[in-house]
Amino acid sequence: MPSADNVMDKLVSLAKRRGFVFQSSEIYGGLGSVWDYGPLGVELKKNVKERWWRSMVHERDDIEGLDAAILMHPKVWEASGHIAGFTDPLVDCKQCKNRFRADDPRIKGTPGQPDAQCPVCGMKGTLTAPRLFNLMFKTFMGPVEEDAAVIYLRPETAQGIYINYLNVLQSSRQKIPFGIAQIGKAFRNEITPGNFTFRTREFEQMEMQFFVKPAADQEWFEFWKAQRMEWVQGLGLHVEKLRFHQHAKDELAHYAKDAYDIQYEFPFGWQEFEGIHNRTDFDLSRHQQHSGKKLEYVDTATNERFVPYIIETSAGADRTTLVVMVDAYHEEEVAGEKRVVMRFHPALAPIKAAVFPLVNKDGMPELARRIYDDLRRHLNAFYDDGGSIGRRYRRQDEAGTPFGITIDGQSTQDQTVTVRDRDTLLQDRVAADRLVAHLTEKLKG
Ligand code: ATP
Repeated sequence: MPSADNVMDKLVSLAKRRGFVFQSSEIYGGLGSVWDYGPLGVELKKNVKERWWRSMVHERDDIEGLDAAILMHPKVWEASGHIAGFTDPLVDCKQCKNRFRADDPRIKGTPGQPDAQCPVCGMKGTLTAPRLFNLMFKTFMGPVEEDAAVIYLRPETAQGIYINYLNVLQSSRQKIPFGIAQIGKAFRNEITPGNFTFRTREFEQMEMQFFVKPAADQEWFEFWKAQRMEWVQGLGLHVEKLRFHQHAKDELAHYAKDAYDIQYEFPFGWQEFEGIHNRTDFDLSRHQQHSGKKLEYVDTATNERFVPYIIETSAGADRTTLVVMVDAYHEEEVAGEKRVVMRFHPALAPIKAAVFPLVNKDGMPELARRIYDDLRRHLNAFYDDGGSIGRRYRRQDEAGTPFGITIDGQSTQDQTVTVRDRDTLLQDRVAADRLVAHLTEKLKG
């Protein structure tokens, strides 16, 4: 069994080598826990987001999309409880200036006391007593850096949905139960980030808030729990590596009545990558109080008035993409040689098909170009005429490209091409004019 670090190290190295993910600001020595997506990574993450958007917005009549701004009125964060509650207790080492979570298992002794030992520099008595530290990034709006101008980068996308609840309700003419979905950036000044893109300081969330009658909360909670697991399984992940984890009473967030995480078994253990939460009427009630605006719903059939309960499904786009990458990473031996292959679900693969002229002569490049130009109008294709055909296949295996199209001597005679399947390595011969239909059929789902 390879060690966790080993598997993650290999993935980080492949991600850099092939252009999935790069460390941010690398030429300046890097910026802690911020990552950039390269040419393959941006396609992969976009495919994850588009699949989510399609299933949550386009395929449902009862969910509307939204794109709220990252910057919001500072009172939003008072109402949400983030200014008071979004904090972790931290300790600093006065000697080496490192900062740790107070519950860091590497700390020996009690921080603030002479016996406490810094896990980095090893000095005793240099750790401060725990202090609360807010995870929100603060900045200033306008020209003057004063308290009145403080504004925050949002630590979750959800609040942008709550403060637009009435706007969407009125403009879309939806009726409860209905939902609002949003994909967007969020920022948290995490103290113990790490594990590649698992916990970062800037990340993207895919959140959907579903507004229901208070008495219907349990029913919708169960519905969304099941739906989200089904969607996650549809990403083609190993099902035995997926499970639910219900939050115990002491894990529940201040707003939650019930919460389940969807966890994946990463090389570093079972970890959450999506949460389904029953947030009750906490959020809308708080915004009602703090803004002074009525956020009640009036049921026109029964004349009932109530503040809706909210069932939230909250997923990380980056963390889900990491799950997809970890799950796809596969090493095997083929004909005595090591092969590294990213077994992405074809619908998620950054490149769907790569086109290879077997050799750069005898009319093969011309035909290959024509086929490539035709293909790229329908799907993301890639043309490669460099190096031996074996090496070209290997490069696409690492990119996770499901189909390799080779134009050989026979192709110029009878207008057929070979289609190599990334996983089975089997090759079919297909008529060039049927290629688009052939691939589209295989890429479905
Ligand atoms: P954790 O316990 O891992 O910090 P959380 O319970 O605070 O996560 P939520 O606030 O419920 O997470 O956020 C929902 C989702 O957003 C998470 O399941 C995860 O996919 C993503 N997410 C949250 N924080 C980060 C982060 N720092 N980096 C990357 N993704 C994140």
